[in-house]
Amino acid sequence: MPHRFFISPNCIIPPTVHITGDTARQIRTVLRMRPGDEIIVLDNSGLERRVALTHIDKTSVQGQIIAEQPNPAEPKLHLTLFQGMLKAAKFEWVLQKGTELGVSCFVPTLCQRSVVRDAASSAKKEPRWQQIIQEAAEQSGRGKLPTLAPACSLPEALVQAQTADLILFPWEETSDVELKSVLKDLTPARVALFIGPEGGFTPDEARLAQDHGAKLVSLGPRILRAETAALAASTALLYELGG
Ligand code: SAM
Repeated sequence: MPHRFFISPNCIIPPTVHITGDTARQIRTVLRMRPGDEIIVLDNSGLERRVALTHIDKTSVQGQIIAEQPNPAEPKLHLTLFQGMLKAAKFEWVLQKGTELGVSCFVPTLCQRSVVRDAASSAKKEPRWQQIIQEAAEQSGRGKLPTLAPACSLPEALVQAQTADLILFPWEETSDVELKSVLKDLTPARVALFIGPEGGFTPDEARLAQDHGAKLVSLGPRILRAETAALAASTALLYELGG
């Protein structure tokens, strides 16, 4: 499988591709690729282009487009994960695995019981988080980069979620509403999924979510860690609704 790289659309002037910066350095120095080698480049349009390298020097990498096709790996379902802010390592794990699984948008959400409670600290980590998403998207063959929205409060997140066809709010205190029953006969194109922080959602937050049209659901009789719940629920939704 050729190495895949998300690059700026400005680098693509058919039939050639002209890459500079970190990606060029990665191709030249890290991967030690040579003219004649092939890569796949993506410009976030959903198209992917196969490129035969023709020239590699200290500042740039050039190549010739030899084929292009729509990327086959983007999910039908547009899933936005509103993730209650977690400690960095856990949140980064959710970004990486959620990208592999097919999440389209991540929204760090500041909840009452979030250990990490200020938007400023997550803003500082945004470049690192974008890098994690890009590397996971390239490794897993995604056709589009999932977006990482700025951190926001739960009330702000619930307003943002109004654009979704279905808002799901898994809450460990809800034992009688199974996810399967909520999804029965529904074919939403856009789903907003809310997962709480390490300390879970408060009853007030659950009530606020219901006031905003969210469906409180159970993920089963076991209490999952937040990072487990995020990926288990994302997997179930993408499996059921079009991953
Ligand atoms: N308060 C408990 C705790 O501290 O261990 C549970 C919080 S749980 C770690 C974090 C989030 O995962 C919850 O807010 C909820 O969104 C989701 N979650 C975990 N297990 C769940 C379940 N069995 N049913 C519904 N949601 C669940």
